[in-house]
Amino acid sequence: MPNTPYHPVTPAIVTELHAIAGAPNVLYGEPERMLDYAHDETQGAQYSHMPEVVVKPNGASEIAEIMRLANRERIPVTPRGAGSGLSGGAVPRFGGILLSLERMNRILEIDTGNLVAVVEPGVVTNEINEAVRRHGLFYAGYPMSVETCFIGGNVAENAGGGRAIKYGVTGRYVLGLEVVLPTGEIVELGGKRLKDVTGYDLLHLMVGSEGSLGIFTRIVLRLLPLPAARTVLLVPFKDAPSALAVVPQIITQAHIVPASVEFMDGSSLRATYEMIGEKPPHPATGALLLIELDGPSAAHVDTETEAVVDACLAGGALDAYVGNTPTTEKKMWHVREKAHEAVTQKSPHQSAEDIVVPPAAIAELLTELEQLSGHYGVTIPCFGHAADGNLHAYITKGQEMPVKTWEAIRAEILTELYRAVYRLGGTISGEHGIGLKRSPYLPLVMDPALIELERRIKRAFDPLNILNPGKIFPSP
Ligand SMILES: Cc1cc2nc3c(=O)[nH]c(=O)nc-3n(C[C@H](O)[C@H](O)[C@H](O)COP(=O)(O)OP(=O)(O)OC[C@H]3O[C@@H](n4cnc5c(N)ncnc54)[C@H](O)[C@@H]3O)c2cc1C
Repeated sequence: MPNTPYHPVTPAIVTELHAIAGAPNVLYGEPERMLDYAHDETQGAQYSHMPEVVVKPNGASEIAEIMRLANRERIPVTPRGAGSGLSGGAVPRFGGILLSLERMNRILEIDTGNLVAVVEPGVVTNEINEAVRRHGLFYAGYPMSVETCFIGGNVAENAGGGRAIKYGVTGRYVLGLEVVLPTGEIVELGGKRLKDVTGYDLLHLMVGSEGSLGIFTRIVLRLLPLPAARTVLLVPFKDAPSALAVVPQIITQAHIVPASVEFMDGSSLRATYEMIGEKPPHPATGALLLIELDGPSAAHVDTETEAVVDACLAGGALDAYVGNTPTTEKKMWHVREKAHEAVTQKSPHQSAEDIVVPPAAIAELLTELEQLSGHYGVTIPCFGHAADGNLHAYITKGQEMPVKTWEAIRAEILTELYRAVYRLGGTISGEHGIGLKRSPYLPLVMDPALIELERRIKRAFDPLNILNPGKIFPSP
């Protein structure tokens, strides 16, 4: 492989991989079947790269053998969950071995005494909730890709999602991990304990490590009692600033922390309603808030619902629709969950951003986005987790703009956007990760000394830079 320290995957190595994982679990020389593993959900041919071989192991010891082989032969290995990532994290940047965790998809234990679930990394996140609900329990992680993404990918990205304002992000619920280190050792971090100060907190160094420090093969997740009642509200506003201005009113003045406060601007909601073949809830809808409240009793949730509706109406909401049956709730969430698909369908020339600022700065962030779109002649539909200060802004080529111009200015727009986000006290990714896509821009928001420290940590775990190379850190 020219200009890289890596060696190619030879037929002899494929024979060894057959012996480790079983021939049916190895794809080699089958470009059509391997194409699905060349990309995640990040748009753009520059974020796609074919693996030389795809291996679907079943168990930590197989993965450990693969890592030892990869070190011996200097072959890069890229772990992959469901491939729903939005930063190119699971893209095999230098070819090599694509390690798909799809066969490791069992829920191993639901321990109601300790309120934990023990799962393999390839379990679809939604399936965890379906399984634990029968026991009156609840897993609080809720990325909007919940029906497709894997829990291993959630841990690797420290996924956020629709319930972070009240429940926090994935890392809060990770109590233990079995990890295969890049050098092939299998280690246990944490366990079913709620407290543990034995040595460095390597467990939470692994969370959010984007497949670069180890491969998770078993995950111990903390569960909560299932809230007894919940309500979803869909609240239309005439424009985005009035919708966003209501968010702090709910939290700081009504003193309520909803389970979710999701936001959609005018263009993202119009694209979504058009795609699903429905109409917005009010003819003058120029922005939406979707608010979920949950609590220990229906009376508690009713009281909070009333206070939130009052705050929204006082803040200029056009109306407030209450979805208090599972069907209406699901329909309301469906609109928000479909926003990514609807907006990306509009144009292939886009950059889907995941910017995050301190929550109170979100209105200023919106102004920055407007200035950027005016200055560069692009459109920027956006939606996201309003109460977390986390917006998904889809910078989209202007209709009349030549593709060449778009390609020439895209990096400049991103640089300007990231600088503005940084000035507001924010950063370039709230939940989707740096991966391949944002690595060139890391120095805009991270001190060089800190980048160097993180590189040293990476070297300590992975001296030959075998595991998921070409991610997070900018090229030297
Ligand atoms: C429609 C849509 C909505 C989304 N909504 C949200 C949202 O609300 N919140 C949010 O945070 N994200 C969201 N995402 C992004 C994405 O779903 C998450 O980043 C998710 O956590 C990725 O999981 P995955 O299994 O698809 O991982 P992949 O994309 O396959 O991989 C992601 C990273 O994890 C690593 N990895 C995967 N499995 C392992 C493992 N077992 N061990 C070590 N490393 C591993 C990979 O190497 C890669 O770096 C959304 C994506 C889409 C398409």
